[in-house]
Amino acid sequence: MSDNKREFSRREILIGGSTAAVGAAAGVALIGDNDADAKGAEKGKKPIPQVPRRTLGKTGQSIPILVFGAGFRLNPVFEPLLAEAYRYGVNYIDAADCYGGETCEGAVAAFHQRMNNRNNLWITSKSDEHEPNAFEKRLNRSLQRLNTKYIDLYYLHALKDKDFLSKDLEKKVAKLKREGKIKYFGFSCHNANVVELMNLAATLPWIDSIMFRYNFRQYGNKELNKAIDACHRANIGLIAMKTQGSSSSFVPKWKDFQKKGQWNKYQAVLKAVWADSRITAAVSHMDNFQKLRENIAAAVNRKKLTQLEINELVRYASITRDLSCDGCEHICNGAMGANFQIGTTMRYLMYHDVYGQQDEARELFASLPPEARDFSNIDFGPAQAACPHNIDIQSHMERAGKILV
Ligand code: SF4
Repeated sequence: MSDNKREFSRREILIGGSTAAVGAAAGVALIGDNDADAKGAEKGKKPIPQVPRRTLGKTGQSIPILVFGAGFRLNPVFEPLLAEAYRYGVNYIDAADCYGGETCEGAVAAFHQRMNNRNNLWITSKSDEHEPNAFEKRLNRSLQRLNTKYIDLYYLHALKDKDFLSKDLEKKVAKLKREGKIKYFGFSCHNANVVELMNLAATLPWIDSIMFRYNFRQYGNKELNKAIDACHRANIGLIAMKTQGSSSSFVPKWKDFQKKGQWNKYQAVLKAVWADSRITAAVSHMDNFQKLRENIAAAVNRKKLTQLEINELVRYASITRDLSCDGCEHICNGAMGANFQIGTTMRYLMYHDVYGQQDEARELFASLPPEARDFSNIDFGPAQAACPHNIDIQSHMERAGKILV
């Protein structure tokens, strides 16, 4: 077997070995719930460790605890990262109509056609349209682009306004399920009203799953914890996103965290999320083989974080508190009395700086209304004074005005 076609050995995957196999994937049998043990892909071949699985709430479906976030530009012909993740049991792709400059769904279609694995693949996609009829139209477009008869889970993307969770939408979702176009429904959310949306969802039996911003910085957030409890009791399948809890200007502080325990910072924050049994899975943008390898290594190893690693996470969260934006932009935007979108812009900065998604960050920034993008000679002092985390909004916005245009 040539070098670029060989598999990770278990040892490599656990300690970080050589570069992953590229595009060599063949479909592997996926394993049952809570079983991280390897299964042989083919008779006589070395077994491949599989990412553990958990049940996604009321869907009753088993999904991997590590979800492939496709929020970057995938190879439109064949994405080897998807193939490699699939070999390790990561058969859940988190797509959206708008990801990759609207190229994401087409790339996912190319992948499942080439692999002939649609029936063994979980595809989640999302609609930026939230009004029921427009939502249905967007779903039909997603089905076409994904070249599939059904989507496993379809979300309202980045829901902000709770009024969209209406009776009309409930009827529309029921119809789309009856027609077999979607199996399950839910929403993603990462703005200031995550708690409000989750508490409402817990009262709505037609919400199957929620993907929400959740990371180690929020463990002390009582209101969020109550909302998570309410959703968990209502058996809503919960998926964590933005698990790195990062913002811009983090890199020097990350360095301090590395190598304090077995795991690096990226792995440790994932393991911290997985330690919460209310959460089924964490989505991760694994846009290179290094990240993919590290995340899979963290997932297949059942060892819990040590006390030293937990202490380091707490310390890290504390010393970087003024660098991490929580998205509660009603506070800072409200203080400005103008149509800025500070928290949203901070999120795009995070995509640019932390997730390495420079093109996507610029595209998203360009889609904001002109008045939200013009920072020239603006004094963000009032916003900064209002921010509960004392974030240096002035310098972040000035930088955004330079690098996101
Ligand atoms: S800058 Fe501060 S107030 Fe504004 S969204 Fe971020 S954390 Fe909230």
